[in-house]
Amino acid sequence: MSERARILGLIAVIQAVGLAVVLLLPGSPISLGLALLGAVASVVLAARCGRAEGAALDTLRAEMTALRKERDRLSLLADVVKESSERYREYSEAAADWFWESDADQRFTFFSSSFETVMNITSDDLLGKRSWDIVSERMEIDSDQWQAHIADLTAQRPFRDFKYWLEDGAGRARWIKVNGLPRFDEDGVFIGYRGTGSDITAAVENAHRMHMLNRAVEQSPVSIVITDLNADIQYVNSAFLRVTGYSMDEVIGHNPRFLKSDLTPPAVFEAMWAALTVGDKWEGELVNRRKTGELYWEMASIQPISNIEGNVTNYLAIKSDITEQKSAAAKLAELVEELRRSNEELEQFAYVASHDLRQPLRMISAYLGLLERKLSASFDQDARDFFGFAVDGARRLDRMIVDLLEYSRIGRITTPMAPVPLGEAVSNALRYLEVAIAESKAQVLVPDILPTISGDGGELVRLFQNLIGNALKYMPEGRRPRIEVFCRDGDGEWVVGVKDNGIGIAADDLKRVFGIFQRLVAREQYEGTGIGLAVCRKIAEHHGGRIWVESECGLGSTFLIAFPKV
Ligand code: ADP
Repeated sequence: MSERARILGLIAVIQAVGLAVVLLLPGSPISLGLALLGAVASVVLAARCGRAEGAALDTLRAEMTALRKERDRLSLLADVVKESSERYREYSEAAADWFWESDADQRFTFFSSSFETVMNITSDDLLGKRSWDIVSERMEIDSDQWQAHIADLTAQRPFRDFKYWLEDGAGRARWIKVNGLPRFDEDGVFIGYRGTGSDITAAVENAHRMHMLNRAVEQSPVSIVITDLNADIQYVNSAFLRVTGYSMDEVIGHNPRFLKSDLTPPAVFEAMWAALTVGDKWEGELVNRRKTGELYWEMASIQPISNIEGNVTNYLAIKSDITEQKSAAAKLAELVEELRRSNEELEQFAYVASHDLRQPLRMISAYLGLLERKLSASFDQDARDFFGFAVDGARRLDRMIVDLLEYSRIGRITTPMAPVPLGEAVSNALRYLEVAIAESKAQVLVPDILPTISGDGGELVRLFQNLIGNALKYMPEGRRPRIEVFCRDGDGEWVVGVKDNGIGIAADDLKRVFGIFQRLVAREQYEGTGIGLAVCRKIAEHHGGRIWVESECGLGSTFLIAFPKV
């Protein structure tokens, strides 16, 4: 009982006793005395009670203040805890990684929500299972990695970066990486693991792709160089080291100018930097020097490389060693030049020889004529025959020299190319052959319209004269020649043909007939020097065209010439 209650009780008792005496003995001095005593006692006691009550109230107030403070502190603490758990929840939801927990029996008891989001899987299906119950079939759990992991779990050791395959909701195997810390209760008893997990499939696939690209770059037969913006080398592949002869240590961090030979014109480098500084690709040839000092040619393609923010961070050069092609091309050019020179010399020789040979030959012919006139009366048959052979030989030699002279002139004494209507060239050729055509009663068909090409009029007349002349000449005894000139539109060229119904040419000889002095028939049978078709080929080539023949033995031949269209 409190002091205040006790005092109030005492006042009540005194007043009750005073009241009883007053009632029982009204007006007696005792009752008056008692009443007075009661009143005094009440006042004294009341005063005492007031003092006690004040002290209790102070205590109460102090307690209240302390309580309020405690309440405020706890409320603040609750806010902090609330905010912290809210933050944890949000982090956990936003994170691509997830949290998990297992019990002392290694069975999963919890997965944070991002596990379901990332894996597209309901975690309820996995709760109560152990990691080796849920691993994808793609992975053997008796592998060394798994055995080492199970040993960690059994020994209740922390583990980091353990990777395994897990199938996602779509049945696709995902590459998972987990970390875990063992948990113990207050008494040190193991109660399970708590840890994080993440899906590293994309990262692993990227790493694999990078690995493959790296292999491709390393095995590439072309040199690959990556520099920074100062053009200092950051990477080279093995082809670069092979081509230049330098080692990796000698090139990394250095400017590729150590390859310079001073044979690449400065304008090439100017053009290269002009393109690179505006972000363009540059392609061109460089003459560089290997470590051995030997020169080599490179076909280089250099381009700026930008980062994902679009800023140029590096230059990438892809270069192939074209030294062999270069020297082959140079050798070829040398050979072509040599061939041109020797051809020119040969033509010059043919021209001079045929020109100069005609002079003594004319003397031989002239003196043979004189001798014949002077001595023919005394000739017997043999002498006449011998004389005949000599005259015939001189005549044939003259024919051959004339033809050779003509052959050597084609393309040498050139008039500028001009438009030549082929119809005109054909009719001029026919005019020269009028007698032969009339004698053989040949039927010659020429289309009304033939195209105009760019050429040398005189040479083209010669071409048709030779071809139509041959068509008339190489005709079996008694057959009436039928010669047809035609033209068809080839792709970008005109193909003109001269077709006959003559003796034809064997398949094996089709190419040979265009060679100089090539004859397929006996001189006694058909006159000729074997130069006509060689002349035709030279004329066709001089016009940028080509000539060939199609034929069937005994039935006839078709000579075709393709001329470029104007
Ligand atoms: P040539 O007529 O002076 O012998 P060519 O160079 O004109 O020389 O012809 C070479 C050879 O090609 C001829 O000897 C002949 O055997 C063959 N030839 C040319 N034209 C024809 C043709 N229209 N039909 C069959 N053979 C031909």
